[in-house]
Amino acid sequence: MSSHTSGSLSSHLWESSDLYKNAVMQLNEAATTMRLDRNIAERLKVPKRALIVSVPIRLDDGNIKVFEGYRVQHNMTLGPGKGGIRFHPEVNLSEVAGLAMLMTFKCSLVGLPLGGAKGGIRVDPRQLSRQEAQALTRRYTTEINMIIGPDKDIPAPDVGTDGQHMAWMMDTFSQERGFAIPGVVTGKPIEIGGSLGRNESTGRGVVYCVVHAAKHLASLGKPTPKIDQTTTVAVHGFGKVGAVAAMEIYQLGTKVVAVSDYLGGIYNKNGLNIPKVTEYFNENRTLVGYPEAEPITNDDLLALPVDVLMPCAIDGVITKENVSRVKAKIISEGANGPITNEAIHDLESRGVFIIPDVLANAGGVIVSYFEWVQGLQNFFWSEAQVNEKLAEVMASAFKKVVDVQQQYNCGMKTAALIAGVDRLNKAMLLRGLFP
Ligand code: GLU
Repeated sequence: MSSHTSGSLSSHLWESSDLYKNAVMQLNEAATTMRLDRNIAERLKVPKRALIVSVPIRLDDGNIKVFEGYRVQHNMTLGPGKGGIRFHPEVNLSEVAGLAMLMTFKCSLVGLPLGGAKGGIRVDPRQLSRQEAQALTRRYTTEINMIIGPDKDIPAPDVGTDGQHMAWMMDTFSQERGFAIPGVVTGKPIEIGGSLGRNESTGRGVVYCVVHAAKHLASLGKPTPKIDQTTTVAVHGFGKVGAVAAMEIYQLGTKVVAVSDYLGGIYNKNGLNIPKVTEYFNENRTLVGYPEAEPITNDDLLALPVDVLMPCAIDGVITKENVSRVKAKIISEGANGPITNEAIHDLESRGVFIIPDVLANAGGVIVSYFEWVQGLQNFFWSEAQVNEKLAEVMASAFKKVVDVQQQYNCGMKTAALIAGVDRLNKAMLLRGLFP
């Protein structure tokens, strides 16, 4: 079979989702810019291993429903697989594979001894009762049992899952082995071996990057927001990442003028009181109807003339269709893949400073790594220690990306990928090809 034929077979299998296509496009740009060994580039375009599982559960009404689940391990050259589990009605194999690829670059970029993986179930978690969610999580864990484990592949929360899902996964995996194995997942509740600061880590990292970006731009003599009361901010998504990012940047004294959830957003040109907004959100499970603000659509939020925009909800929200409306000066990608490749080019050509997802949202997996290490040693750190180490790793990753960006005179997105791929490339060449 010619290499051309096998190449198109792989594409056919993986490339149905925009997320995967975007990840490959970004990899191609990085590979061309850094003149990456062609064999390495080709290898990285397809995952190492993927498992598709059927997950049957009995619904509360007595009927049985079968859901489709996935776990994809993209690359495990640097260590065990690492990456979240997504519960979303549109999840599919290709999207999970694309997200696993991003995890590979993210873990490599921030220097973790971990590879990239991702999992998911095609389900709307909002339609599940607690009992159904538990049954689904436990049966899924059993189905992927053979490829996960503390030294194989370590899941974590992602869109639609949280610490409770991780607790059920940890319990299921442990019950099947006969003893407690906390290291099989991260993002666990503190009571069963979670790490202090893990819940806040992704949002914190997103904001650390904004602070680094402002300092970096100022050092280049560019007109730049100072991250004070004159700085305006909009946050898209008010979940595990967005709500924390909004609070962290609010606490730095900036004016957070708009936030949103999947139902819509709220806007106040004088700045929102984020602690009050959070209280309202926690009571009502939505921001809609918050009294001290005007309603705003998600699309209009993305187009606000703010200094800082943090898209923290989901992929593909800034595309070639709406990118011309985006006016922010700094964009920190809290979600994975919120800006499509075409839109990134448009923004970067207009001088918008983009902090790419693999850097901006790496705080989550960094503290996941700390949680895994603490669990393996049975020795736990204070939240101050966790935050200090997180800040250190984020600062050096930010510097690494900016250095690469200057070295190649490329965009930040390409620079982040080059920085990630470079370390991996060296490791892959050293390990060689078996057999
Ligand atoms: N789901 C998060 C991410 O996309 C965290 C993954 C992890 O902690 O393993 O980076």
